[in-house]
Amino acid sequence: MAMSGKIRCPWCEKIFDSPANRKDKDTIECPSCFTKLEITQASPVQVKIAGEVDDYMHEEYDDWK
Ligand SMILES: [Zn+2]
Repeated sequence: MAMSGKIRCPWCEKIFDSPANRKDKDTIECPSCFTKLEITQASPVQVKIAGEVDDYMHEEYDDWK
């Protein structure tokens, strides 16, 4: 399969074509809401909102007795 890919903006959910020469860590801009998106995986393409920290480490450690 060719490297084709649609990106869905995680912010506004607009679907748009990803750049053909995309690569990991590239930053692109949503054409709809202009949110900066970082490519986390080139193929199949995945993005996240640039600068967003994956910070789900706040375990409720009170339960760890
Ligand atoms: Zn957007």
